[in-house]
Formats: sequence, C-alpha cells, structure tokens
Amino acid sequence: MRETFLNHRIRGLRPSAIRKFFDIAATMQDVISLGIGEPDFDTPAPIVQAGIRSLQAGYTHYTSNSGVMELRQALAEHLERLYGVHYDPTEIIITVGGSEALYLAASATLDPGDEVIIPTPCFVSYQAQVHMAGGVPVEVPCRMENNFEVDPQDVAAAITPRTKAILLGFPSNPTGAIARRETLLEIARLAEEHDLLVMSDEIYDRLVYDGQHVCFPSLPGMWKRTILLGGFSKDYAMTGWRIGYAAAPHAILQGLLRLHQYTVMCASTTAQMAAIEALRNGEEYVQQMVAEYDRRRRLIVKGLNEIGLPTFEPKGAFYAFPKVSVTGLDDETFASRLLTEERVAVIPGSGFGAGGEGHVRISYATAYEKLEEALRRMERFVNRL
Ligand code: PMP
Repeated sequence: MRETFLNHRIRGLRPSAIRKFFDIAATMQDVISLGIGEPDFDTPAPIVQAGIRSLQAGYTHYTSNSGVMELRQALAEHLERLYGVHYDPTEIIITVGGSEALYLAASATLDPGDEVIIPTPCFVSYQAQVHMAGGVPVEVPCRMENNFEVDPQDVAAAITPRTKAILLGFPSNPTGAIARRETLLEIARLAEEHDLLVMSDEIYDRLVYDGQHVCFPSLPGMWKRTILLGGFSKDYAMTGWRIGYAAAPHAILQGLLRLHQYTVMCASTTAQMAAIEALRNGEEYVQQMVAEYDRRRRLIVKGLNEIGLPTFEPKGAFYAFPKVSVTGLDDETFASRLLTEERVAVIPGSGFGAGGEGHVRISYATAYEKLEEALRRMERFVNRL
C-alpha cells in the first residue's frame, strides 16, 4: 500500500499557522483572542433581512454560473463610482468568498513552474494557492522601515524569465500596510515592461483610515493585465456568507468561469441576494464600522508602543503588527508564552512569510474594552520578561 494517496502538491502544504493557535486557545478559559481575521460585528440587519426575504420569496435555486446579473451590475457601478474603473457585468464573476476568487485566479493562469512574486508577510493562502496551482511563490519581504509597503526595487530584483505574475494584497493582512499610488505606479511599470499578470487582492479596500484606496486596475494600462479580487467578508462583515468576486477582461474571465463552473457551479444564492443589498444600502454601516475600527486602531497602536513593542501605524485593514523581538523572544515563543501566561492570543508573524519573523499579528476587530484589557495583560507580560 502507498504511504499516502495524497498528491505531492498537497503533501507539500504546511498547516496554517493561524489554525494551530486557534486550536490551542479553544481549549483555554478566559482567553482574549486578538488572533481572528474577521470583523467582530454581525452582518448589518438590512443585509441579513435581504437574505431572509430572498429565501421566503423562493430564491432557493442555482443562479447563473457567473452570479446574479443584478449583483454583477451593482458591483460594476460600485467599482466605477469608487475608483473610476470600468467593468462590464460580464467581466465579473461572483465567487465563494475572496478565497475562491484567488483560487480561480491562480489555478486558471499558472502553468507548472510559473513564478509568482508575492510581497510578504501576506495572507497565508497566497503561497499555498500558488503552490497548489503548480506555480512557484517567490517571496519579496516588506520592511517595517518602509511601513511594510512593498519596495518596487525588490520586486524588480525578483523578476526572472519564469515570472508570470505579481500577487498584491493591499491593504495588507497581516501588517495593515497600504500601498501608495506612486509605489503602485512603479509596480505597474514593471508589469508592463516584463509583460506580467497582476492579481490584486483588494478585499480590505473600504477599510482604510487615511485617504482613499487605490484600485490597481484603475492605473494607466493596468486594466488589461489585472485580475481584481474582492469580497464582502471584511467591508460588510459577511465572512460566514461566503461571497466575493473576481473581475478581469473577458479573455481571462472566461478561463476563471470555466473552472468555477466545474468546481462550485455558483456562489450561494442567498448570499448573492444579501450582497445586492450591501452594495445598495450598506454604505452607512461601512462608515460606522470604519470609524469604530479607527478608534480601536489608535488605542492599540499607542498602547503597544507605550508598552515598548514598536508598532508602525497601520493605514488599512484591522491588524497591527508590533515588533516583539525587542523582548528577546522570537515571535513563536512570544505568542505561545503570552497565550499560556496571560491568556491573550496573537499570531506569530513568521507564519505569514518572509519579513514577518520577530513580529506578531494583532487583530483589533475586537471590542474596545477587550483591547484595553489585552493591553494591560500584555504590559504585565512584557514587564516580567
Ligand atoms: N484575502 C485576504 C487578504 C484575507 O485576509 C482574506 C480573509 N482572511 C481573504 C482574502 C479571504 O476572505 P473570504 O474568502 O472570506 O472572502
């Protein structure tokens, strides 16, 4: 009998660093979890109601593979209004979360051995998705002294004849970094020069605290070589609904659609109906959530720096990424001791790829009072070291 029936790509995957910590924390009492990468808010009531109403009205069947036309239309208008980027509804596909959109983008475009440049630390799925698609992730570490923004010179240095794509994720999970327009223009120039595909994961596009998000395909010449990945999980607090999207020029989108058709058929009908409501009437809730995240962000950044854990000011998403190596502990040890000694769960930064080591990810998608208590516990812990 074979040792395992699993293929070599799956055998090569490591379990997610995030899950390991959740599993430990779940066995303990009175843990404050700053480990979770999802909003603590429930989905706004009108969006929930729209989902319920759709079920009662008989929307219990498949939709078209691409997704409900009304939703794709609303999304096209939304992207045009916010970023001036034009997609025809037929250039948008509704997916099972941003996760499926990423899966489709990687699996429909990469051939074995194709290299994908990924600024890290990054969302744990990026390297895994590229690897599962047969591609080779090439990590380009971002540095704290650059506010964890990608340095285009590092990207240029990583380009080889095998490079097929760049996978960007800004605002960033886990650092909270954003990428400024001038930086993205440099990346765009490289993409043009080397004829690269850009996969731009903009799932945190609305969660920015200082200025306006830059949508990559809105940059000159980039629309034709970009797959825009997005979703409703973060902006509208809809993680459990499992709904997201990919947008790309027709020739690319058709490939993603074929894969989507043969794997999931279509995204959940209920979630699609709820998402229409999110786009039409969700703005006030987005604004409220952003204002509350911003309040917590200021608390946590000030608090961590005062404790003596250097923390740059994140400009997007809902994560802070303090440097914990100043305590003399590596990030794994820091996180596991903080969990067992003070019952605060954070995620070691090394799990997010090169450049993450020596840091931990703290999610401030957690109630203000809990963050205050977590800071007190962390201060006690750091002072004891
Ligand atoms: N991209 C990033 C950067 C993320 O942080 C996440 C969720 N943690 C996703 C994509 C996927 O989100 P979902 O599948 O819930 O839309």
